[in-house]
Amino acid sequence: DVDIEFTGQTRVLTVSNQKGGVGKTTTTVNTAAAIAALGGRVLVIDLDPQGNASTALGVPHSADITSIYDVLINDTSIADAVQQSPENERLFCVPSTIHLAGAEIELVSQVAREKRLDTALHEYLEGLDEPLDFVFIDCPPSLGLLTINAFSAADEVFLPIQAEYYALEGLSQLLGNVKMIQKHLNTRLRVSTILLTMYDGRTKLSQQVAAEVRQHFPDEVLKTVIPRSVRVSEAPSFGQTVIGYDEASAGAVAYKEAAVEIVKRGAPRRKGRR
Ligand code: ADP
Ligand code: MG
Repeated sequence: DVDIEFTGQTRVLTVSNQKGGVGKTTTTVNTAAAIAALGGRVLVIDLDPQGNASTALGVPHSADITSIYDVLINDTSIADAVQQSPENERLFCVPSTIHLAGAEIELVSQVAREKRLDTALHEYLEGLDEPLDFVFIDCPPSLGLLTINAFSAADEVFLPIQAEYYALEGLSQLLGNVKMIQKHLNTRLRVSTILLTMYDGRTKLSQQVAAEVRQHFPDEVLKTVIPRSVRVSEAPSFGQTVIGYDEASAGAVAYKEAAVEIVKRGAPRRKGRR
């Protein structure tokens, strides 16, 4: 057993990487579920119109459901859109619906269009009787207004990197975007956490990519790597995270270890303020 302490401070992490298919959604839901299993109270905000995070958390997200779209566009409060995951009473999700696909364009004409999630989230957090320990925002794979809203609302960037060809491609672009956000929208934002996903220790390539990423980001990369595992990819089709689907599988064990690391490291030292 691990001795884990939650501080009562809410850490807000945006799970971002402009590449698609690197494990953003998988990392979001499984890390969130693993932290909830450790005793933390965790909210996942599904900011991808695909709604894969909502699916994996077993939360309804058909077109008629109140969702993150309503929060961003219709001034609905997060309290009215949040749902509890059937997997864990401490695990919550603001789902995404198909409407979110149009939000990218609808946001353009809105007042404070980059800050709508930030405002709604912090209003929600301040109104809670029992504080959340973590908020994870699952981002779409593009730098549009949805991702900018996530960067504006978060304190930390959580970057999953697939241990594969071209893993570092696009990374300097992401870091450049983070700099730009720090300068103009959110001085608090830090790239705090990097996780190697779909790691195959038998291949030289995975080892090389891991070594290169660790060399560039010695303080940010977690010791834990997530192995490629069929159980991880199967879980969402059962409306579950891998923690709920097969807690003893290699993928679940790895996400639980990653969760312990994230909680134990604590929040990066604060520079900016809201
Ligand atoms: P993103 O959100 O970055 O687009 P996903 O989390 O949807 O990426 O992952 C892309 C695909 O890879 C999905 O089909 C997912 O099931 C699969 N996948 C992610 N992580 C693993 C893993 N550790 N083992 C096996 N398959 C994985
Ligand atoms: Mg995704």
